[in-house]
Amino acid sequence: MTDAANEAGLLDGEGTVAGRESSESKGCWRVTVDREVCIGSGICVGIAPDHFDLRLGRSQPLTDPVPEGTPQVADAADNCPVEAITVHDAATGLVIAPDL
Ligand code: SF4
Repeated sequence: MTDAANEAGLLDGEGTVAGRESSESKGCWRVTVDREVCIGSGICVGIAPDHFDLRLGRSQPLTDPVPEGTPQVADAADNCPVEAITVHDAATGLVIAPDL
């Protein structure tokens, strides 16, 4: 499709079909908490109160997705004592945090 779209003059300078923003270009991170693994320490809430909350004694994300490069969610994932939080790139699936 890219070649056909390019030949048809539909691509902008970055290879994106003009007028349609692909999900890859939005630069989002996905945030998940495995509530079966979470022990309810509240560390993530202390580090990133705008992004996590405790519900019924377990953490859950308040914001998902978040803009790429949101340091608080990566810090929370890195500091979770049981590695219950995962942050990954929405477009590629690449794990951003925890930093193993
Ligand atoms: S830091 Fe980890 S274990 Fe503690 S509340 Fe958050 S997700 Fe649960």
